[in-house]
Amino acid sequence: MVVTKHPGVVPCAHCKQQPGSEDCQVCTKVVCQDCGARWQSCDQVVARELRLGMGQRLIDVDKDGHYGVVQHMLSRKRRLFDLRRTAYVALYEALPHGSIVSGQRFARIEPEPVSTSAHQDTGFTTTLTIASLMSVSRVHIVEVNQAPPQGFSLATKDSAACVTLADQTVRLVSVKHGQTTRHVPLPGKVIQASALDDAAGLLFTATFGYAQLDHIDDTLASDKIGRLRIWDGDAYWVGVGKQAAATITRSSINVGTLGHIEAWQTEPPFERIAHIKLRASGDSAFRWTEPDSVALSDDGRFLAYALNRYQVMVNDLVSGDTTLFSGHTDPVNLVRFAANDTLLITADRDNRVFIRPRVGDTFVDRSVAVRLAEDPVDLAPLASDDDVS
Ligand SMILES: [Zn+2]
Ligand SMILES: [Zn+2]
Repeated sequence: MVVTKHPGVVPCAHCKQQPGSEDCQVCTKVVCQDCGARWQSCDQVVARELRLGMGQRLIDVDKDGHYGVVQHMLSRKRRLFDLRRTAYVALYEALPHGSIVSGQRFARIEPEPVSTSAHQDTGFTTTLTIASLMSVSRVHIVEVNQAPPQGFSLATKDSAACVTLADQTVRLVSVKHGQTTRHVPLPGKVIQASALDDAAGLLFTATFGYAQLDHIDDTLASDKIGRLRIWDGDAYWVGVGKQAAATITRSSINVGTLGHIEAWQTEPPFERIAHIKLRASGDSAFRWTEPDSVALSDDGRFLAYALNRYQVMVNDLVSGDTTLFSGHTDPVNLVRFAANDTLLITADRDNRVFIRPRVGDTFVDRSVAVRLAEDPVDLAPLASDDDVS
Protein backbone atom coordinates (compact mmCIF):
# COMPACT_ATOMS: atom_id res chain seq x y z
CA MET A 1 0.00 0.00 0.00
CA VAL A 2 1.39 3.37 -0.98
CA VAL A 3 0.62 6.42 1.06
CA THR A 4 1.70 9.65 -0.55
CA LYS A 5 3.50 11.72 2.02
CA HIS A 6 2.95 15.41 2.06
CA PRO A 7 4.30 17.64 4.77
CA GLY A 8 1.69 17.87 7.52
CA VAL A 9 -0.58 15.21 6.03
CA VAL A 10 -1.17 12.24 8.28
CA PRO A 11 -2.66 9.11 6.74
CA CYS A 12 -5.96 7.89 8.15
CA ALA A 13 -5.36 5.72 11.21
CA HIS A 14 -8.14 3.35 10.18
CA CYS A 15 -7.89 2.70 6.43
CA LYS A 16 -4.31 4.04 6.06
CA GLN A 17 -5.16 5.07 2.50
CA GLN A 18 -6.76 8.47 2.52
CA PRO A 19 -5.33 11.51 4.27
CA GLY A 20 -6.57 12.08 7.78
CA SER A 21 -8.70 15.13 8.35
CA GLU A 22 -10.61 14.66 11.59
CA ASP A 23 -10.49 12.87 14.93
CA CYS A 24 -12.06 9.46 15.33
CA GLN A 25 -14.82 9.84 17.91
CA VAL A 26 -13.90 6.53 19.46
CA CYS A 27 -10.10 6.19 19.50
CA THR A 28 -9.40 9.93 18.91
CA LYS A 29 -6.77 9.16 16.24
CA VAL A 30 -6.70 11.22 13.04
CA VAL A 31 -8.86 9.58 10.38
CA CYS A 32 -10.21 10.38 6.93
CA GLN A 33 -13.70 11.75 6.38
CA ASP A 34 -15.09 8.39 5.26
CA CYS A 35 -13.82 6.52 8.29
CA GLY A 36 -14.83 9.34 10.60
CA ALA A 37 -18.41 9.02 9.35
CA ARG A 38 -18.53 5.33 10.14
CA TRP A 39 -17.86 4.37 13.68
CA GLN A 40 -17.58 0.71 12.73
CA SER A 41 -14.34 1.45 10.88
CA CYS A 42 -12.67 1.89 14.26
CA ASP A 43 -11.31 -1.35 15.67
CA GLN A 44 -11.25 -0.16 19.23
CA VAL A 45 -13.69 -2.41 21.01
CA VAL A 46 -15.96 -0.10 22.89
CA ALA A 47 -19.70 0.51 23.02
CA ARG A 48 -21.11 3.69 21.53
CA GLU A 49 -23.51 5.89 23.36
CA LEU A 50 -25.45 8.48 21.42
CA ARG A 51 -28.26 10.95 21.96
CA LEU A 52 -30.92 11.41 19.30
CA GLY A 53 -32.12 14.83 20.38
CA MET A 54 -34.71 16.01 22.88
CA GLY A 55 -37.93 14.01 22.83
CA GLN A 56 -36.68 11.55 20.21
CA ARG A 57 -37.01 7.85 20.82
CA LEU A 58 -35.54 4.91 18.90
CA ILE A 59 -38.41 2.47 18.38
CA ASP A 60 -37.01 -0.04 15.93
CA VAL A 61 -33.83 -1.04 14.10
CA ASP A 62 -33.23 -3.11 11.01
CA LYS A 63 -31.62 -6.49 11.20
CA ASP A 64 -28.21 -5.19 10.18
CA GLY A 65 -28.18 -2.45 12.77
CA HIS A 66 -27.66 0.23 10.13
CA TYR A 67 -30.91 2.09 10.37
CA GLY A 68 -33.43 2.84 13.05
CA VAL A 69 -36.86 4.41 13.19
CA VAL A 70 -36.94 7.36 15.57
CA GLN A 71 -40.19 8.79 16.86
CA HIS A 72 -40.75 12.07 18.61
CA MET A 73 -42.57 11.39 21.83
CA LEU A 74 -44.99 14.31 21.51
CA SER A 75 -45.51 14.93 17.80
CA ARG A 76 -45.30 11.17 17.02
CA LYS A 77 -43.40 12.18 13.91
CA ARG A 78 -41.10 9.42 12.68
CA ARG A 79 -37.76 9.69 10.99
CA LEU A 80 -35.17 7.28 9.73
CA PHE A 81 -31.80 7.37 11.48
CA ASP A 82 -28.43 6.09 10.26
CA LEU A 83 -26.93 4.43 13.33
CA ARG A 84 -23.43 4.12 11.91
CA ARG A 85 -23.09 7.68 10.71
CA THR A 86 -25.09 8.90 13.70
CA ALA A 87 -27.21 11.15 11.49
CA TYR A 88 -30.81 11.45 10.41
CA VAL A 89 -31.55 10.33 6.85
CA ALA A 90 -32.59 13.22 4.64
CA LEU A 91 -35.32 11.66 2.55
CA TYR A 92 -37.36 10.06 5.27
CA GLU A 93 -38.68 12.93 7.24
CA ALA A 94 -42.02 11.35 8.05
CA LEU A 95 -42.50 7.62 8.13
CA PRO A 96 -46.11 6.49 8.41
CA HIS A 97 -47.54 5.23 11.66
CA GLY A 98 -46.79 1.59 12.38
CA SER A 99 -43.64 1.35 10.33
CA ILE A 100 -41.29 -1.48 11.07
CA VAL A 101 -37.84 -1.62 9.62
CA SER A 102 -36.88 -5.09 8.63
CA GLY A 103 -34.25 -7.04 6.85
CA GLN A 104 -31.75 -6.41 4.11
CA ARG A 105 -34.10 -4.42 1.94
CA PHE A 106 -35.48 -2.44 4.81
CA ALA A 107 -38.98 -3.40 3.94
CA ARG A 108 -41.42 -1.93 6.34
CA ILE A 109 -44.70 -3.42 7.22
CA GLU A 110 -47.42 -1.32 8.55
CA PRO A 111 -50.62 -2.61 10.05
CA GLU A 112 -53.49 -0.25 9.45
CA PRO A 113 -56.76 -1.37 10.94
CA VAL A 114 -59.56 0.45 9.14
CA SER A 115 -63.19 -0.04 10.05
CA THR A 116 -65.42 -0.77 7.11
CA SER A 117 -68.58 1.18 6.46
CA ALA A 118 -70.67 -1.92 5.84
CA HIS A 119 -70.17 -3.43 9.28
CA GLN A 120 -69.29 -0.59 11.54
CA ASP A 121 -69.33 -2.49 14.79
CA THR A 122 -67.94 -5.86 13.89
CA GLY A 123 -66.17 -5.55 10.56
CA PHE A 124 -62.59 -4.50 10.11
CA THR A 125 -60.30 -4.53 7.19
CA THR A 126 -56.69 -5.02 8.08
CA THR A 127 -54.44 -3.56 5.47
CA LEU A 128 -50.80 -4.45 5.40
CA THR A 129 -48.70 -2.03 3.47
CA ILE A 130 -45.34 -3.39 2.48
CA ALA A 131 -42.94 -0.83 1.23
CA SER A 132 -39.31 -0.67 0.31
CA LEU A 133 -37.44 2.21 1.87
CA MET A 134 -34.90 2.11 -0.93
CA SER A 135 -37.42 2.83 -3.63
CA VAL A 136 -39.65 4.99 -1.44
CA SER A 137 -42.66 3.39 -3.02
CA ARG A 138 -45.23 0.94 -1.91
CA VAL A 139 -44.64 -2.32 -3.67
CA HIS A 140 -47.48 -4.44 -2.37
CA ILE A 141 -50.70 -3.93 -0.58
CA VAL A 142 -52.28 -6.96 0.96
CA GLU A 143 -55.78 -6.77 2.29
CA VAL A 144 -56.85 -9.28 4.86
CA ASN A 145 -60.52 -9.03 5.74
CA GLN A 146 -60.10 -9.89 9.31
CA ALA A 147 -60.96 -9.63 12.93
CA PRO A 148 -60.18 -6.57 15.08
CA PRO A 149 -56.59 -5.56 15.75
CA GLN A 150 -56.66 -6.91 19.28
CA GLY A 151 -54.30 -9.85 19.42
CA PHE A 152 -52.57 -8.42 16.44
CA SER A 153 -48.84 -8.79 16.59
CA LEU A 154 -46.27 -8.60 13.91
CA ALA A 155 -42.86 -10.03 13.42
CA THR A 156 -40.66 -9.53 10.44
CA LYS A 157 -37.56 -11.06 8.98
CA ASP A 158 -35.79 -10.81 5.67
CA SER A 159 -38.47 -11.90 3.30
CA ALA A 160 -41.61 -12.64 5.22
CA ALA A 161 -43.80 -11.11 7.87
CA CYS A 162 -45.87 -12.92 10.40
CA VAL A 163 -49.16 -11.52 11.64
CA THR A 164 -51.18 -12.88 14.52
CA LEU A 165 -54.88 -12.33 14.15
CA ALA A 166 -57.65 -12.69 16.67
CA ASP A 167 -59.36 -15.49 14.77
CA GLN A 168 -56.89 -18.21 15.83
CA THR A 169 -54.86 -17.84 12.67
CA VAL A 170 -51.44 -16.62 11.73
CA ARG A 171 -50.88 -15.01 8.35
CA LEU A 172 -47.48 -15.21 6.78
CA VAL A 173 -46.85 -12.51 4.23
CA SER A 174 -44.13 -12.72 1.63
CA VAL A 175 -42.46 -9.33 1.53
CA LYS A 176 -41.11 -9.97 -1.96
CA HIS A 177 -44.27 -11.25 -3.59
CA GLY A 178 -47.01 -9.88 -1.39
CA GLN A 179 -48.84 -13.18 -1.14
CA THR A 180 -50.24 -14.38 2.17
CA THR A 181 -50.74 -17.84 3.56
CA ARG A 182 -53.08 -18.76 6.39
CA HIS A 183 -52.02 -21.02 9.25
CA VAL A 184 -53.92 -22.56 12.13
CA PRO A 185 -51.13 -23.97 14.29
CA LEU A 186 -53.16 -24.32 17.48
CA PRO A 187 -56.72 -25.23 16.47
CA GLY A 188 -59.38 -24.00 18.87
CA LYS A 189 -56.95 -21.71 20.70
CA VAL A 190 -56.48 -17.98 20.49
CA ILE A 191 -52.93 -17.33 19.38
CA GLN A 192 -51.49 -14.78 21.74
CA ALA A 193 -48.08 -14.26 20.19
CA SER A 194 -46.12 -15.43 17.19
CA ALA A 195 -42.65 -15.05 15.75
CA LEU A 196 -41.03 -16.04 12.52
CA ASP A 197 -37.46 -16.76 11.54
CA ASP A 198 -37.68 -17.40 7.86
CA ALA A 199 -33.93 -17.88 7.53
CA ALA A 200 -34.17 -20.80 9.95
CA GLY A 201 -37.56 -21.78 8.53
CA LEU A 202 -39.30 -21.62 11.89
CA LEU A 203 -42.66 -20.30 12.99
CA PHE A 204 -43.30 -20.18 16.73
CA THR A 205 -46.76 -19.54 18.14
CA ALA A 206 -48.09 -19.53 21.68
CA THR A 207 -51.34 -19.54 23.58
CA PHE A 208 -52.19 -19.98 27.30
CA GLY A 209 -50.08 -22.93 28.45
CA TYR A 210 -48.89 -24.11 25.03
CA ALA A 211 -46.51 -23.17 22.27
CA GLN A 212 -45.85 -24.75 18.93
CA LEU A 213 -42.96 -24.89 16.51
CA ASP A 214 -43.68 -25.22 12.82
CA HIS A 215 -41.31 -25.59 9.93
CA ILE A 216 -41.92 -23.05 7.17
CA ASP A 217 -40.70 -23.66 3.63
CA ASP A 218 -39.95 -21.22 0.81
CA THR A 219 -43.56 -21.15 -0.29
CA LEU A 220 -44.62 -20.29 3.28
CA ALA A 221 -46.28 -23.65 3.79
CA SER A 222 -46.08 -24.97 7.35
CA ASP A 223 -45.40 -28.33 8.90
CA LYS A 224 -45.63 -29.05 12.64
CA ILE A 225 -42.35 -29.88 14.39
CA GLY A 226 -43.42 -30.07 17.99
CA ARG A 227 -45.57 -28.71 20.76
CA LEU A 228 -44.28 -27.38 24.08
CA ARG A 229 -45.91 -27.04 27.45
CA ILE A 230 -45.18 -23.53 28.64
CA TRP A 231 -45.93 -21.76 31.89
CA ASP A 232 -49.64 -21.34 32.59
CA GLY A 233 -50.35 -17.74 31.84
CA ASP A 234 -51.00 -15.42 28.95
CA ALA A 235 -48.16 -15.57 26.46
CA TYR A 236 -47.53 -12.02 25.39
CA TRP A 237 -44.18 -12.33 23.67
CA VAL A 238 -42.38 -15.12 21.80
CA GLY A 239 -39.11 -15.15 19.93
CA VAL A 240 -37.43 -17.74 17.77
CA GLY A 241 -33.92 -18.17 16.38
CA LYS A 242 -32.01 -20.98 14.74
CA GLN A 243 -31.31 -22.82 17.95
CA ALA A 244 -33.74 -21.59 20.54
CA ALA A 245 -37.24 -20.32 21.03
CA ALA A 246 -38.41 -18.24 23.96
CA THR A 247 -41.67 -17.17 25.52
CA ILE A 248 -42.72 -14.67 28.12
CA THR A 249 -45.87 -15.39 30.03
CA ARG A 250 -47.71 -13.30 32.55
CA SER A 251 -48.50 -15.09 35.80
CA SER A 252 -52.16 -15.82 36.26
CA ILE A 253 -51.76 -15.12 39.99
CA ASN A 254 -50.55 -11.58 40.39
CA VAL A 255 -48.44 -12.08 43.52
CA GLY A 256 -44.66 -12.29 43.78
CA THR A 257 -43.53 -13.55 40.42
CA LEU A 258 -45.12 -11.45 37.73
CA GLY A 259 -43.83 -13.17 34.67
CA HIS A 260 -41.83 -16.06 33.34
CA ILE A 261 -39.24 -16.08 30.60
CA GLU A 262 -38.66 -19.57 29.25
CA ALA A 263 -36.42 -20.77 26.46
CA TRP A 264 -36.27 -24.08 24.62
CA GLN A 265 -34.13 -25.83 22.10
CA THR A 266 -35.73 -25.94 18.67
CA GLU A 267 -34.68 -29.55 18.06
CA PRO A 268 -36.31 -32.60 19.66
CA PRO A 269 -36.69 -33.28 22.53
CA PHE A 270 -37.19 -29.50 22.86
CA GLU A 271 -35.39 -29.30 26.16
CA ARG A 272 -36.08 -26.23 28.27
CA ILE A 273 -32.80 -24.36 28.61
CA ALA A 274 -33.84 -21.36 30.66
CA HIS A 275 -36.49 -20.31 33.10
CA ILE A 276 -36.26 -16.80 34.50
CA LYS A 277 -38.78 -15.53 37.01
CA LEU A 278 -39.52 -11.85 36.76
CA ARG A 279 -40.51 -10.11 39.93
CA ALA A 280 -41.76 -6.64 40.58
CA SER A 281 -39.29 -4.38 42.31
CA GLY A 282 -39.06 -0.70 42.96
CA ASP A 283 -41.21 1.17 40.50
CA SER A 284 -40.90 -1.49 37.83
CA ALA A 285 -44.55 -2.54 38.14
CA PHE A 286 -44.34 -4.73 35.06
CA ARG A 287 -43.67 -1.89 32.68
CA TRP A 288 -40.91 -3.88 31.00
CA THR A 289 -43.62 -6.09 29.54
CA GLU A 290 -43.73 -4.10 26.34
CA PRO A 291 -42.73 -6.60 23.67
CA ASP A 292 -40.08 -4.34 22.20
CA SER A 293 -38.04 -4.52 25.35
CA VAL A 294 -37.26 -8.21 24.96
CA ALA A 295 -35.04 -9.81 22.32
CA LEU A 296 -33.67 -13.22 21.46
CA SER A 297 -30.50 -13.36 19.40
CA ASP A 298 -30.72 -14.93 15.93
CA ASP A 299 -28.58 -17.86 17.00
CA GLY A 300 -30.83 -18.39 20.01
CA ARG A 301 -27.97 -17.96 22.42
CA PHE A 302 -28.76 -14.67 24.15
CA LEU A 303 -31.92 -13.35 25.66
CA ALA A 304 -31.99 -9.65 26.50
CA TYR A 305 -34.65 -7.70 28.33
CA ALA A 306 -35.17 -4.53 30.26
CA LEU A 307 -34.91 -5.12 33.98
CA ASN A 308 -36.28 -2.73 36.58
CA ARG A 309 -36.98 -0.42 33.63
CA TYR A 310 -33.54 1.23 33.54
CA GLN A 311 -31.21 -1.72 33.13
CA VAL A 312 -30.65 -4.30 30.42
CA MET A 313 -30.12 -7.92 31.38
CA VAL A 314 -28.50 -10.34 28.96
CA ASN A 315 -28.80 -14.06 29.67
CA ASP A 316 -26.39 -16.40 27.94
CA LEU A 317 -28.63 -19.42 27.51
CA VAL A 318 -25.69 -21.70 26.77
CA SER A 319 -23.39 -20.90 29.71
CA GLY A 320 -26.02 -19.62 32.10
CA ASP A 321 -24.05 -16.39 32.60
CA THR A 322 -25.89 -13.13 33.06
CA THR A 323 -24.69 -9.60 32.38
CA LEU A 324 -26.42 -6.48 33.59
CA PHE A 325 -25.91 -3.23 31.67
CA SER A 326 -26.55 0.16 33.18
CA GLY A 327 -26.35 3.61 31.66
CA HIS A 328 -29.91 4.31 30.64
CA THR A 329 -31.42 7.21 32.52
CA ASP A 330 -35.01 6.61 31.46
CA PRO A 331 -37.02 3.40 31.05
CA VAL A 332 -35.61 1.14 28.34
CA ASN A 333 -38.05 0.87 25.45
CA LEU A 334 -36.00 -1.08 22.93
CA VAL A 335 -33.64 -4.04 23.14
CA ARG A 336 -32.41 -5.61 19.90
CA PHE A 337 -29.69 -7.87 18.60
CA ALA A 338 -28.44 -6.92 15.14
CA ALA A 339 -25.78 -7.62 12.53
CA ASN A 340 -25.71 -11.38 13.00
CA ASP A 341 -25.81 -11.05 16.78
CA THR A 342 -22.62 -8.97 16.78
CA LEU A 343 -24.42 -5.91 18.16
CA LEU A 344 -26.74 -5.30 21.08
CA ILE A 345 -28.72 -2.12 20.58
CA THR A 346 -30.72 -0.64 23.45
CA ALA A 347 -32.64 2.61 23.69
CA ASP A 348 -34.56 4.48 26.34
CA ARG A 349 -37.46 6.87 26.31
CA ASP A 350 -35.26 9.90 26.59
CA ASN A 351 -33.30 9.62 23.33
CA ARG A 352 -30.31 7.71 24.67
CA VAL A 353 -28.99 4.77 22.62
CA PHE A 354 -26.25 2.24 23.34
CA ILE A 355 -24.69 0.13 20.61
CA ARG A 356 -22.66 -2.66 22.18
CA PRO A 357 -20.38 -4.85 20.06
CA ARG A 358 -20.03 -8.50 20.90
CA VAL A 359 -16.66 -9.85 21.91
CA GLY A 360 -16.62 -13.61 22.24
CA ASP A 361 -19.44 -14.57 24.52
CA THR A 362 -20.34 -11.20 25.87
CA PHE A 363 -21.19 -7.65 24.90
CA VAL A 364 -18.94 -4.74 25.71
CA ASP A 365 -19.89 -2.66 28.72
CA ARG A 366 -17.49 0.32 28.49
CA SER A 367 -18.88 3.02 26.23
CA VAL A 368 -17.86 6.31 24.67
CA ALA A 369 -20.25 9.05 23.66
CA VAL A 370 -20.37 9.81 19.95
CA ARG A 371 -21.63 13.03 18.43
CA LEU A 372 -24.78 13.36 16.40
CA ALA A 373 -24.05 14.61 12.87
CA GLU A 374 -25.65 17.98 12.22
CA ASP A 375 -26.59 17.45 8.58
CA PRO A 376 -28.88 14.71 7.37
CA VAL A 377 -27.27 12.01 5.24
CA ASP A 378 -28.56 10.12 2.22
CA LEU A 379 -29.52 6.51 2.43
CA ALA A 380 -26.36 4.49 1.80
CA PRO A 381 -26.32 1.98 -1.06
CA LEU A 382 -27.19 -1.47 0.21
CA ALA A 383 -24.49 -3.51 -1.49
CA SER A 384 -21.42 -1.50 -0.67
CA ASP A 385 -21.71 -0.61 2.99
CA ASP A 386 -21.12 -3.97 4.57
CA ASP A 387 -17.77 -3.24 6.12
CA VAL A 388 -18.36 -5.06 9.40
CA SER A 389 -14.99 -6.22 10.71
ZN1 LIG B 1 -9.90 6.17 6.44
ZN1 LIG C 1 -10.83 5.04 15.77
